[in-house]
Amino acid sequence: MSAVNAVGWRPEMGPAQHPEHESSPHLTASGDKGLMLEEPLIFELGRPGSTGVDIDAVDRAVSPALARFRRKAQAALPGLTEPEAVRHYTRLSRQNYAIDLGPFPLGSCTMKHNPRLNEKVARIAGFADLHPLAPQQTARGAYEVINQLAEWLITLTGMHGVAMSPKAGAHGELCGVLCIKAALEARGEDRKVMLVPESAHGTNPATAAFAGFSIENIPATAEGRVDLAALKARLGPDVAGVMITNPNTCGLFEREMKAICDAVHDAGGYVYCDGANFNAIVGKVRPGDLGVDAMHINLHKTFSTPHGGGGPGSGPVVLSEALSPFGPLPYTARMADGVVHLVEEEDAATMGHSQSFGRMAAFNGQMGMFTRALAYILSHGADGLRQVAEDAVLNANYVLRSLEGVLEAPFGKTGPCMHEALFSDENFPEGFSTLDVAKGLIDEGFHPMTVYFPLVVHGAMLIEPTETESKAGLDRFIASMRSLAARAKNADPSLKTAPHFAPRHRLDETQAARKPVLSWQGG
Ligand SMILES: *Cc1c(COP(=O)(O)O)cnc(C)c1O
Repeated sequence: MSAVNAVGWRPEMGPAQHPEHESSPHLTASGDKGLMLEEPLIFELGRPGSTGVDIDAVDRAVSPALARFRRKAQAALPGLTEPEAVRHYTRLSRQNYAIDLGPFPLGSCTMKHNPRLNEKVARIAGFADLHPLAPQQTARGAYEVINQLAEWLITLTGMHGVAMSPKAGAHGELCGVLCIKAALEARGEDRKVMLVPESAHGTNPATAAFAGFSIENIPATAEGRVDLAALKARLGPDVAGVMITNPNTCGLFEREMKAICDAVHDAGGYVYCDGANFNAIVGKVRPGDLGVDAMHINLHKTFSTPHGGGGPGSGPVVLSEALSPFGPLPYTARMADGVVHLVEEEDAATMGHSQSFGRMAAFNGQMGMFTRALAYILSHGADGLRQVAEDAVLNANYVLRSLEGVLEAPFGKTGPCMHEALFSDENFPEGFSTLDVAKGLIDEGFHPMTVYFPLVVHGAMLIEPTETESKAGLDRFIASMRSLAARAKNADPSLKTAPHFAPRHRLDETQAARKPVLSWQGG
C-alpha cells in the first residue's frame, strides 16, 4: 500500500511534486520530518479485512425473520491491526498543543495549569466509579463534595444559592436567563428585551436569543467600560435585564457595577453577570455585594479543572435571593438553619423549592469536575484563592507593561488591567495584521493568543497569562512577542507566510467552512 500523506503527496510522486518543495528541499520518502510525523485519515490507512482481533467466522444462515436486517453492503469501516490503530491515535495526539506542553495565552479562556493533586482526588475509586443511579444513601461522600463545593461558591460570590448542574459557561448562562424568565413570569410581566454591552462575549447575546429575548446593544465608553448613561437611558418596562461580563472582555473591571445593578433593579429588571473571568477577582470581590442576580462560574477556568480537549466544562450558576426560588433542580442553597443543603426533585415541595423552572441536565452535573474543583479550593484555602487573583492580575500587568512599547495597548494609559492584557494592530504597516503575529507565535512554539476579540478593538490581541506561568516563562513569551511585533512593524515578508516550522503552513482561514469535505470519497 502506498501511504498518502496529509498534503495529498505520495512518495512515488517524487520531491518535485511535493507541495512543500519550494520551502523545504530536504524531503523524506515517508513524508515525516524527523519526529514531526504525518498522519493520513484512518480511512486512508485502513484495508478491508485487516483487523486487530480474531473472530470466528459467522454462521451466515439466519432465520428469514432476521434476514431483512442483514447488511446489504460491507460496512465502510477502516481495517487496521492493533499497532496501526494505536499508532494512528498516538501520532494524532502528538500534533496537539496542550497546557502540559507550553503556555496557552488565550484571553478570556483562563487556560491554567491543572494541578495533579486534583487528578489524584478525582480518581479515588469511591468518586470515580460511582454510578449516577446509585441510591443517595450509598453516595453520601459525593453529596458531601457537592454541598461543600456549593458552600464555597456561595461564600466566595456572596450569593444565596447555586445550581450545580449546568455543564459549561454557556449552559450556565442559559440557566440564569431561564431563572430571570421564570421570575418575570411569576410577576406576570412579559419583558422581551435583554441588554448586552458591545464588548460582551458572543455567548451572552446567543443565550438571550435562545431563551426568546430580543437583544439590544449598549455601547462602550472610550475607556472600554459599559456606558452607564446609555444603559440608564434604555431601561424601561420592556427590559428584562442586562448581561454584563465583569471583569469585562477588555480585561477591565466594571467600576460602575453597583450603580448598574441599582439602576436595572429600580427599572424592574435583573442583572446577569458573566462570571467566566472570576479568576481575576476571586477572594477579592463578592458579586452578590454588587447586586448581581445570577452568575455562572466556569470551574474549568477559575478553579483549574481541565478544559478544551482535556475534559468537560462545568458551569455552576449562583443566584441572588430574588432568583433563588426559580433555580433548577437539583438546587443547592443556604436554608433557614444556616446550612447549605441540596434539594432534589422528590424533596422540592417539602424543602420549599416548588417554583423551580425545571432541570438543566440529568443527574447532578459534572461530578469529576466537582471533585477536582473542591480539591483545588481546599488546597489553596481562602488566602490562597485571593493570591490566585492577585498573581493572575500581576502577571497580566507584567505582560501589558512589557509589550506596550512595541504594541498599541488601547486601554493601557487609563490604568492597570485585570487578568488579561489587550493590544491592537492599529500601528502596523499596510498589509500586516494581528493574524500574522498569531501565526508567528506558532513558529515560536506558543499557542496563539485570542485574536479579533473583543470586537470593540481593531485587530484585538487578548493575552491572559494566568497565575500559573512563572516569570521566566512570561519573559520567554514576551521576548517572542517583542520579536514578532518588530517583524510586523518592519514589514518582514516572511511573517506573512508564517508558520514555517509547523506541520502545515499558512492555511486558508475560511475554506474548511466554505467548502467542507464531510465524507471521505476513497481513492
Ligand atoms: C469561556 C467564556 C464563556 C463560555 O463558557 P463555556 O464554558 O466555554 O461555555 C462565556 N463568557 C466568557 C467571558 C468566557 O470567557
